[in-house]
Amino acid sequence: MALIDAYTSGAAAPPVWARPDPALAAAGVEGEYVVARVRVLAMGLLLIAPTWNVTHHPQDPVHVTGFSVTLAAAFASVGILHLLRRGRWRPWIGFASSAFDVSMVSLALVSFLVVGSPMIALNSKVTFEMYFLALTATSLRYDARICIVVGLLALAEYGGLWAFAAARYPLDDPAYVAQAGPYSRVDLWTRLILLGVATILAVTIVRRAQRLLYLAARDRLTGLFNRGHFDRALRAAMERSRREGQPLSLALVDVDHFKAINDTHGHALGDRALVVVAQLLHRAMRRTDLVARYGGEEFVILLGGTDREAALERMEALRREVAATPIDLGEGRTLAINFSAGVAGTPADAAATTPRALVALADERLLAAKRQGRGRSVGAEA
Ligand code: GH3
Ligand code: MG
Ligand code: MG
Repeated sequence: MALIDAYTSGAAAPPVWARPDPALAAAGVEGEYVVARVRVLAMGLLLIAPTWNVTHHPQDPVHVTGFSVTLAAAFASVGILHLLRRGRWRPWIGFASSAFDVSMVSLALVSFLVVGSPMIALNSKVTFEMYFLALTATSLRYDARICIVVGLLALAEYGGLWAFAAARYPLDDPAYVAQAGPYSRVDLWTRLILLGVATILAVTIVRRAQRLLYLAARDRLTGLFNRGHFDRALRAAMERSRREGQPLSLALVDVDHFKAINDTHGHALGDRALVVVAQLLHRAMRRTDLVARYGGEEFVILLGGTDREAALERMEALRREVAATPIDLGEGRTLAINFSAGVAGTPADAAATTPRALVALADERLLAAKRQGRGRSVGAEA
């Protein structure tokens, strides 16, 4: 019945391949900072072993390469943190830095292959596990697309390394086996499967966060946005309208004699009436509008790019539509609902410069509509 049912039951969720909601995108930027700081710390710690190796065995090409690659990665990680600190964040950075992390792990494996043995690269114990750290960190970007792309990248890079090594080297050669253990195809397949599982888990974490954020912004009964979300949206909309010099209007809607509906027909029918009103309001919204349940039987509508007079006309049209949509009581009986609305908006109400003032003005006019006999929209003082 309610708009939200589809989401709580899990039947419909925001699509996986979609740009994240602005609130999650903001969390993703914070996640990017966290990852950048952890990356610098991790690279500092990861430098210890190669530095020890290269100072004790300076002639060994494996150690020289290991040290060089780690040092280059450490410099790159400091560079990324520096860019973020200077406010140079862009939406693609999440993709790029996640791909960087995974590719650095692959690069370390390739360097083993080039200077050491292909089996050291394929059977590497410590380096391979770093793929999991990189894949876990993708979920901190709160963008399922990043998790998928980077997970597939890790699979392609490790699978490609294996395919290259198998085509190029006799992997069952006892010399390689003595160096790094046997060439086990089952183990390598299992590693690929584990990378796939880690990717699925990262996507699941992001989807879970998306679902929780969705629910946190919604009213349970009607599925409309809730008061908390509306308050944030109003602040942002007023700032944007001032910046862009666009009109913005706000309508407070209160269902008339709603207590009588509850008292006469019961709360279940009262709930159904609220859902019907919510659906009619929701359906009438334009892309730049936002409708929320303000409380009890009160709704609030933000009409972006709409001045007060136009908003008043739209509210009257909506009110007539609601009044013309009776609720079925069964046995051929119906119940008509009406509402009163108070409308305020810029530029006409130039004095209402804060969200609180704009809401208060609409509320005053809503009270006036009630006093004047209900079933009407009021957009100015008498
Ligand atoms: P007015 O025309 O002056 O607005 O009168 P009213 O009866 O609509 O206003 P009043 O504030 O007296 O009553 C509002 C009622 O809305 C009281 C409350 O029980 C009911 N209500 C609030 N939330 C819900 C809800 O979620 N479901 C149901 N069924 N009733 C609700
Ligand atoms: Mg009320
Ligand atoms: Mg009422």
